[in-house]
Amino acid sequence: MALTTRPRGTNDILPGKIELWLELEKRIRQVCHTYGYHEIRTPMFEHTELFERGIGDTTDIVEKEMYTFTDRGNRSITLRPEGTAPVVRAFLENKLYSGQLPVKLFYFGPMFRYERPQAGRYRQFTQFGLEVIGSSDPLLDVETIVLPIEVYKACGLTGFEVQLNSIGCPKCRKAYRDELIKYFTPHVDDLCRSCQSRLERNPLRLLDCKVESCQEIMKDVPHIADYLCPECAGHFDEVQDYLRALEIPYVVNPKLVRGFDYYTRTVFEVTFSELGSQNAIGAGGRYDGLVEECGGESTPAVGFAVGVERLLLALETQGGLEAVHARPQVFIVHFGGATKRKAAQIAYELRNEGLWVELDHMDRSIRAQMKAANRLQAQYVFVLGEEELVKNQVTVRNMDSGVEKQYDLKDLLNLADTLGRA
Ligand code: AMP
Repeated sequence: MALTTRPRGTNDILPGKIELWLELEKRIRQVCHTYGYHEIRTPMFEHTELFERGIGDTTDIVEKEMYTFTDRGNRSITLRPEGTAPVVRAFLENKLYSGQLPVKLFYFGPMFRYERPQAGRYRQFTQFGLEVIGSSDPLLDVETIVLPIEVYKACGLTGFEVQLNSIGCPKCRKAYRDELIKYFTPHVDDLCRSCQSRLERNPLRLLDCKVESCQEIMKDVPHIADYLCPECAGHFDEVQDYLRALEIPYVVNPKLVRGFDYYTRTVFEVTFSELGSQNAIGAGGRYDGLVEECGGESTPAVGFAVGVERLLLALETQGGLEAVHARPQVFIVHFGGATKRKAAQIAYELRNEGLWVELDHMDRSIRAQMKAANRLQAQYVFVLGEEELVKNQVTVRNMDSGVEKQYDLKDLLNLADTLGRA
């Protein structure tokens, strides 16, 4: 295997692009701050059982997509494919439930799924997500829909669509499950292998299937909305009431179920159609059963995750996020030998003052150093030749105006102050 090739489905984020990521992270943090969310960082890997139990063993992720290995201590370990189960584990392990509820957390970091890579779908990708644990207030379902919208808006994205559904609780899902089995059974031979194997175990999963022939069979499938118990129907009504009150546009998609078993009641997805087949830029929902499934007391919770690479792709279709490309304040051109030693001292002092200072390390000619300074778009070039060194001076050229001036080296700190403010 080529040593110079990265694993399939992964990306290098290079200088030039990283500025966009940092800008995006900054805007995300600003929005989270105004909604009172605090950041949490969980390990990149967890015990495999957490995901098997949490996400559900009939889901695509657990059946086909996890990076699972046995470590040297003979434990089964999985690189996290999503952020919710780890956050719930951390909530329980660190007894966050003993403080004020609800606990409002957000995370930003890499996730790993063994998927077929294509544009917008990777094996290592980044999610920004949030989780609110400890309340079933429908206004919090709405908050987890509104917050990503605010993030998209803060990045300048327009033209996305919010799709919404309720998949009820285990009580109402029982009747719906039976109805689905009744509906699909006559078509069982025409279903894909995955759907066939899930029909008895978890028929709701079939609604998630992307295989065209299965989609065709699903055309007239009964809708969960007709099977919701009065409490779940009431909760869904309240969610929609709040969305209307906040004037958040959305459409109800009765077939939306989402790829995890832990969801209850509200599920939603945000799509951006210009991305083609991988058009979901964020998704989430309520998961009132997960905390208990992970060994805690029954505790309601709701959350969502945004795919950061996809959000950046979506932004690219609209001209991209504007990030400030910083430029060095000073490039010191030296002539080697004693002038280089002096240049090193000046650079050290100016860097201590907080300035971005560059100097040549390639024994370049003066012309080539000037060229390098231009390429970096340095604001000022300091020329430090033998003559300047003798006079204890430096020639300072303002690269924007072309004006050149001599400065005494002893005035360097004053100069640094001026440049710092320039
Ligand atoms: P999920 O955790 O599957 O609900 O996904 C939440 C969001 O993460 C999706 O809406 C996508 O934006 C993003 N996402 C999920 N899987 C991938 C992937 N393999 N590559 C890139 N982004 C992904």
